[in-house]
Amino acid sequence: MGTIVRFAPSPTGRLHIGNIRTAVLNYLFALKSGGRFLLRLDDTDIERSTEAFAEGIRRDLAWLGFDISWQVRQSDRIARYDLVAERMKAAGLLYPCFESEDELERRRKRQMARGQPPIYDRASLRMSGDERARLEAEGRRPHWRFRLPNTESADQLVPLPTLVSWNDLIRGDQTVDIGSLSDPVLQRADGSYLYTFTSVVDDIELGITHVVRGADHITNTGVQIALFEALDAVPPAFAHHSLLVDGDGQALSKRLGALSIEGLREAGYEPMAVLSHAALVGTSDAIEPHASMETLAAAFDFAKISLAPGRFDASELEGLNARLLHTLEHVAVRDRLTALGVGGGEAFWLAVRGNLVKLADARMWWDIATGEVRPVVEDARLLSVAASLLPNEPWDTATWGAWTNAVKGATGAKGRALFHPLRLALTGRESGPELKTLLPFIGRERALARLSS
Ligand code: GLU
Repeated sequence: MGTIVRFAPSPTGRLHIGNIRTAVLNYLFALKSGGRFLLRLDDTDIERSTEAFAEGIRRDLAWLGFDISWQVRQSDRIARYDLVAERMKAAGLLYPCFESEDELERRRKRQMARGQPPIYDRASLRMSGDERARLEAEGRRPHWRFRLPNTESADQLVPLPTLVSWNDLIRGDQTVDIGSLSDPVLQRADGSYLYTFTSVVDDIELGITHVVRGADHITNTGVQIALFEALDAVPPAFAHHSLLVDGDGQALSKRLGALSIEGLREAGYEPMAVLSHAALVGTSDAIEPHASMETLAAAFDFAKISLAPGRFDASELEGLNARLLHTLEHVAVRDRLTALGVGGGEAFWLAVRGNLVKLADARMWWDIATGEVRPVVEDARLLSVAASLLPNEPWDTATWGAWTNAVKGATGAKGRALFHPLRLALTGRESGPELKTLLPFIGRERALARLSS
């Protein structure tokens, strides 16, 4: 059976670098194993889910280069969930409960006062048929809980430890004690379903073989494995990666706008720099820029993912972005350079790429080469000799060497005393691309004007 993974964001906000870590680990695993990748929109929370967020998620993933041609929305699958819920109700695996939130809260307080764990006491299971009929006659509608397959003590008040185990592909042997958990509500009184349930139904029906998600879902996994088994399905394999933290060690939250994919895109980062960071942070591999998902996939291995939280560091992303640009071929950026108004073809790209942090910086160098600059005069005498020795065009990369040699011969200046005044006059900047590659783009007319100003 081929590998099938899914990335299952809820469209209740925009994606951030932490979500992308989950997405890219799923994607790389699928790519490496020749499997399929599903984008599942978990939009059962109708109050908080919006089409605009769903569209934003698709746009972010497409920009990053994910193939999202296979998509499913949970809101389109309600009829499937109804069928499975009916089956579970008939089998007594889902049972109706009528307690209000207040009532449950009072009970939890009482349990804690008695030193008992505050878990649901299954009182509804012991309700008589008459009692239930009376509540229904009053118009009360039940919510439905999944009866966890845990063992109860004789007095039914304290569930006994009941371990659910799995071999996590990242964390090794894991156990969750479902005896310490309340029976989870899977369907609300208004008939809507909770994620714990819809996710398992989808994972079964869509043939998901591996669930790769954040470590915040570990307890869910204990409950969901019990649910897979209650539905006579073999649970998929699970891999729980550690969560990302920011520079201060705080968990990344959805509301951190700057770390949203949209924010990173607007800040001018390259998709592959973002993906390289998301895929390699918190692994035993060095965080290096990769130019394609394929090379990242070739390096992918669950065994390399560490248990400690990965640290997202914006300055590291900047460095990664720069290093990626420094190696990109012209074809990879040609259209975007044209859109930025940068000319000069491949030769200009090769001249400036080593000086870029963001692609848009190329426009600055194009303007410096071909637009107006305010020359800085450090050594007026040297500049006037240099102006008089400017060779005739055409110019190429050999022009700089021949010209500066002549200036050196005429003035005796060498090293920094020769090159620094020329750079300041020609570019108005202390540093930048090699002048031998930039000079042909500046051209004789502009060079003369800048040297003579
Ligand atoms: N919608 C869930 C979330 O965003 C999906 C978790 C999962 O992968 O099962 O947390």
